[in-house]
Amino acid sequence: MIQKKVPMRRCIGCMESKPKKDLIRIIADEGALRLDLSGKANGRGAYLCTDPKCLAKAVKKNSFQRNLELSPDAETVKRFSEELERIAQSRNAE
Ligand SMILES: [Zn+2]
Repeated sequence: MIQKKVPMRRCIGCMESKPKKDLIRIIADEGALRLDLSGKANGRGAYLCTDPKCLAKAVKKNSFQRNLELSPDAETVKRFSEELERIAQSRNAE
């Protein structure tokens, strides 16, 4: 059986492995967390589904601290949540 190889990454919220292109990369950049929409930025990265629920799970489980040695503050979590929602919507529209 021939299967096309799709790069997989694990979401730090739900811990499920998913195709990399379905996940959003988050990087720790100079002491701040940000979404890496290109997926190519330098720095430590972690992956998250485009589902704000996974973001909430990751925050609750302290996954950001564990993976990126940084925890987002409430303001950042809110902003990420809005951005993830926007990304999810634009992907669904494709
Ligand atoms: Zn997830």
